[in-house]
Amino acid sequence: MSDQNYCVVDIGGSKILLLLIDDKGGILFREKTATPKPEKPGDIIGSIQSLLGKGFSATGMAADSKPRGIGVCIAGFLDHKSGLVYQSPNLHWTSPVPFGELLSEAFECPVLIENDANAAVVGEVIYGAAKGHRDVVYVTISTGIGGGLYLDGKLYRGSSGFAGEIGHIKPFGKGRPCKCGKYDCLETWASGSAIARSAKALWNENEVEGGEITTAWVFEQADTGNSMAQKIIERAVENTGRGLSNLINLFNPSCLVIGGGVAGSRSDYREKVAAVIKKESIRPSVEITPLKIMPASLEPEAGIWGMYALLTNRVEE
Ligand SMILES: [Zn+2]
Repeated sequence: MSDQNYCVVDIGGSKILLLLIDDKGGILFREKTATPKPEKPGDIIGSIQSLLGKGFSATGMAADSKPRGIGVCIAGFLDHKSGLVYQSPNLHWTSPVPFGELLSEAFECPVLIENDANAAVVGEVIYGAAKGHRDVVYVTISTGIGGGLYLDGKLYRGSSGFAGEIGHIKPFGKGRPCKCGKYDCLETWASGSAIARSAKALWNENEVEGGEITTAWVFEQADTGNSMAQKIIERAVENTGRGLSNLINLFNPSCLVIGGGVAGSRSDYREKVAAVIKKESIRPSVEITPLKIMPASLEPEAGIWGMYALLTNRVEE
């Protein structure tokens, strides 16, 4: 029955992932496609329509079926109530886009949109690493640094939906512009691209095997004993740990979930960050609480499951 199915979409800078999920959480269809370039809102909606069409045909539903609801998470500063996306650096949207409205017009069903890290914290709380916790800080460290707050049993969005922007706490280091338009945000000194950026200041890319300095290259160099690469990583660890310890002191969460390509899959990196957090946070927040520091468990689909939980009212609002 098509009206029992939910359509959940994660729009990233490089790809769009769509899942069709039934009302019991069963996955009926999963498919991704490259994000259209340039990232025009209408073209992105076209990509979602075509993925959904494939989903309908793969599951034997009529082409004119309607999902029971559509939930879309997107990296950007957005207001989930109005559906306005004010800024999405990954999609190069610099002025407000009424994306919620455009989705409602295109799909003629209930629509929810949410910041991707907000969706991810909900996913990890309801289905993943933070299951059972009521106070959770979620951070994802990849190309950029994103974050979400789940406080007192609810997603905390702030007054307009922009809360939890952990990547933009400051100051760290000196003199680096951030994609948000300001300077010296955590993201500019401790994200994957920041690690590569620090290395680019020290090495000539032409002299590097493969001709490109990437985050993975810096980690490889550090593993083989290169002291300059080790310093870059130590500094990123220190900055990340200090930044997160501020959040621990501020919110006293019982669980901190760390995900993303830089930290999520490198347990040694995560352990070093955890050690800084434990050193820098006030002792009661770490020892009495006690704070659990967990790797994200739903990647890369944490946002998808958060949107599903929100769409199906599994979360207190
Ligand atoms: Zn910033």
